[in-house]
Amino acid sequence: MAKHQFQTEIGQLLKLMTHSLYSNKEIFIRELISNSSDALDKFNYMSLTDDSFKSDEWSGKVFVKLDKDDNSLTIGDNGIGMDEADLMDNLGTIAKSGTKVFMENLTGDAKKDSNLIGQFGVGFYSVFMVAEQVDVISKKAGSTQAYMFSTDGSGEYEIKPVVKDEHGTVIYIKLKDDEKEFLDKWRTQEIVKKYSNHIAYPIMLNFSEEESEGEGDDKTSKMVNKTEQINEATALWTLGKSELKKEDYIEFYKTISHGDDEPLKYLHNKVEGSQEFTTLFYIPKKAPMDMYRADYEAGVKLYVKRVFITDDSKELLPPYLRFVKGIIDSEDLPLNVSRELLQENRILANIKQNSVKKILGAIKKLSGEDADTFTQEYNKVIKEGIYIDQTNKDILLDIVRYKSSTEEGLVSFSDYMSRGDSEKKEIYYIVGDDEKVLKNSPMLEAYKKANIEVLIMDDSEIDSIVTPMIGAYNEWSLKDISTIEAPDSKSDEEKEEISKEFKSLTDKIKEALGEEIKEVKISNRLTASSSCVLKDPSDPMAGMSAIFAQMGQEMPETPLILEINPDHEMIKKLDSLEDTALFDDIAWILLDSAKLSEGLEPKDKGAFALRVASLASKAI
Ligand code: ADP
Repeated sequence: MAKHQFQTEIGQLLKLMTHSLYSNKEIFIRELISNSSDALDKFNYMSLTDDSFKSDEWSGKVFVKLDKDDNSLTIGDNGIGMDEADLMDNLGTIAKSGTKVFMENLTGDAKKDSNLIGQFGVGFYSVFMVAEQVDVISKKAGSTQAYMFSTDGSGEYEIKPVVKDEHGTVIYIKLKDDEKEFLDKWRTQEIVKKYSNHIAYPIMLNFSEEESEGEGDDKTSKMVNKTEQINEATALWTLGKSELKKEDYIEFYKTISHGDDEPLKYLHNKVEGSQEFTTLFYIPKKAPMDMYRADYEAGVKLYVKRVFITDDSKELLPPYLRFVKGIIDSEDLPLNVSRELLQENRILANIKQNSVKKILGAIKKLSGEDADTFTQEYNKVIKEGIYIDQTNKDILLDIVRYKSSTEEGLVSFSDYMSRGDSEKKEIYYIVGDDEKVLKNSPMLEAYKKANIEVLIMDDSEIDSIVTPMIGAYNEWSLKDISTIEAPDSKSDEEKEEISKEFKSLTDKIKEALGEEIKEVKISNRLTASSSCVLKDPSDPMAGMSAIFAQMGQEMPETPLILEINPDHEMIKKLDSLEDTALFDDIAWILLDSAKLSEGLEPKDKGAFALRVASLASKAI
């Protein structure tokens, strides 16, 4: 008999399961049944595609046995099973990425934390919330030798060869003394119905029950051993829509999401004709935790004629819809479709296209609170979609939402258009990192004065890349306000006049600031502020920030244009200022404070502070 040490991370995980997660313990049943169901799916696939596993007798089952005398519960299956190496790799040694992510996401709130178990592929270990001792007896299909993996969950496990007839896995759980509730037939049945009613295999419950015989004085009672099927065992998506109620869909969602929440939306479609397939998709109320990790787990499973094919293909839906959970079941794909070549499969490409249309259509139709929830959770991935998916760009643009300079909450492009100038057909926006900075930007002053709405795009990492490539929405062109002339009521002649009047001042400021700026201009976008800075739209680098961001590089600094407000009291007086040292200080303050308003940093923060202090003391 060989003793082994659990790998460090798994050891930590076990400790946590045993000592910290004490709420919602019942989910261990859901997790073990789900593992059995996966193992049955895998064997089912092999029995249909691999001659050496073809069998007329095999019918997949999960069995659950309650033994009150022994204080134990056993959950087993006749699925694919595990050999010695599988037991060590899957249960003992190799930490999966899920283990790490699970631990990273723990909040210390036992209830919330137990809800995370199913999401991160650490389901097996949940058994240690209730177990004193666990024996996993398994025989891999095709092997002759079975093995038993035993542990009390405290850092070590043992593996030894044992005898077992049929392939599959049996998990014997010796319960802790205070976990007897899981030996109650009604309680277990209730848990199975709640989470696993629609797994596609029968779940057989074996239990003992007292039964009385005879009448009156002759009445005796004895314990009778019984076995009953306790779930529906239908692949839910194969039933007709009219046969299913909302509760059925929600129940099934709990099975596939390993959770307790209701979905935001479900959509069930059967397509018939030259190609036949069924899809059942769910949009979760909360975005999956791993959505922004490179190793996120795909949420959609592929079936062919109800035979499970794969759940780890990221090709079934485009990556920006990776939050969708559900099922695709095709009648036309061959059973032995190569999982590697799914991407190039024409039948699947067609299913994918149809699915994306259906999902986006359903999202577009969300309204009220549901629409708000969707935006809150998924607006960012929708922007990813706009960037990647040219075919569905229009509907994605209908769905995406932005903050606004004039409205509370988030608005759509069509909301904006309903308030905008329908002759000019322009949608104005400003991009940056911080909503507050953007809303107070001097750049907005002229728009505020003219009562023109500007979309506030404060997720610059993604907006600065995605928005410029939108171009237009329903013939309205999108304009970054930092690259265009601001709205104003002055004629060209008037502007010319003012520029002439301030020529000597702008020249002097340029001289004081030297290479720090490209140009000093008279502004028509300012009302309250004395100055603002903008990127030079004619600079070939100006439009490159997206490209640099994509390469993960900082954009090299390019000189800015400084604009000054000719109506500002200080600017009016500045031209006649004779003290040249003071003039230089003020020129630098005009530049540095304008940079600060845009969330940029002064070149020399210390010098900026000194200048402000010196000016303040002069003022006193
Ligand atoms: P997950 O199921 O999310 O991968 P688990 O910790 O629950 O994570 O299980 C780890 C692995 O152990 C599974 O991926 C599977 O390979 C294997 N396994 C667990 N239970 C069984 C079973 N009943 N039959 C066959 N393999 C199993």
